[in-house]
Amino acid sequence: PTRLITPEKRGEDADNSLRPQTLDDFVGQAAARANLKIFIEAAKGRGEALDHVLFVGPPGLGKTTLAQIMARELGVNFRSTSGPVIAKAGDLAALLTNLEERDVLFIDEIHRLNPAVEEILYPAMEDYQLDLIIGEGPAARSVKIDLAKFTLVAATTRLGLLTNPLRDRFGIPTRLNFYTVEELELIVRRGARILGMPLADDGAIEIARRARGTPRIAGRLLRRVRDFAAVAGSGPVDRRIADEALSRLEVDALGLDQLDRRYLSMIAMNFGGGPVGIETIAAGLSEPRDAIEDIIEPYLIQQGFIQRTPRGRMLTANAWKHLGLDVPRELSV
Ligand code: ADP
Repeated sequence: PTRLITPEKRGEDADNSLRPQTLDDFVGQAAARANLKIFIEAAKGRGEALDHVLFVGPPGLGKTTLAQIMARELGVNFRSTSGPVIAKAGDLAALLTNLEERDVLFIDEIHRLNPAVEEILYPAMEDYQLDLIIGEGPAARSVKIDLAKFTLVAATTRLGLLTNPLRDRFGIPTRLNFYTVEELELIVRRGARILGMPLADDGAIEIARRARGTPRIAGRLLRRVRDFAAVAGSGPVDRRIADEALSRLEVDALGLDQLDRRYLSMIAMNFGGGPVGIETIAAGLSEPRDAIEDIIEPYLIQQGFIQRTPRGRMLTANAWKHLGLDVPRELSV
């Protein structure tokens, strides 16, 4: 099923017109931005490669965008790939040997690297060396190849899925958080300006509120509202038009969509509010466990709708209220 609000990349996002190009253009993530600015200045001042950076956070929060901005601000090339795409050690070796001094290599979904490939990455990150085994059996020998001093910028949705040795090799681990409504409002206004779309203040706030804390979703909602407004008539898009468009798309007042609501109501109706284990939830929703943990749950937790307990997920009083149901007595005290 295609979810409008899935924060994962989709074809329509290939249009990069909304992507900020500089650190100063990048809204939000103030702590991460301030740190990166300092590290980038320092590396430039010394003429050295920047230390390896790991971005951790849910999809659509700007990890790829920040990686591109870093390369631009460092004045170096940007090369990009992703964990599942690098099938063999040789694929990564080819990428690494093509890098120039101080280039940025971006690896998205680094937690999905295959272990044989990951082995190659350790000496590359630490000593800028490739250790390759050439040939097989008794004739096999190992060769070392020197690499340019590059910067690995990697992204992952969940730090817990990284092996410890890999995690330890990043000098600059950086967590990205969901955006506030105010930050998303700035992002929505900027997007509307770029798209040449007249947008009233209350319209911008309405879209920002319903963007699930995620710039990628804000951009997508903005485009959908624009399409809707184009059909509905003239004048700037205000709160009423935005609300009508987003309600039709079944994105509710807090940005939850059908799947979020199915998740919550299943726990309410079938499990008395929990606790219920993630495998049971995944089976009940017919969705992969990973997708539930990476995409659905982080926002529901941040919004205070569910709690993770050792015995499973539990609905909070807020979740019952959001579903329009009576709050169970044990939660209402
Ligand atoms: P991730 O790599 O974390 O999945 P991306 O970097 O691809 O996310 O960002 C998703 C989309 O959101 C991009 O198209 C970009 O235009 C937009 N975006 C992300 N962060 C910001 C931001 N801070 N300000 C404005 N737009 C942003």
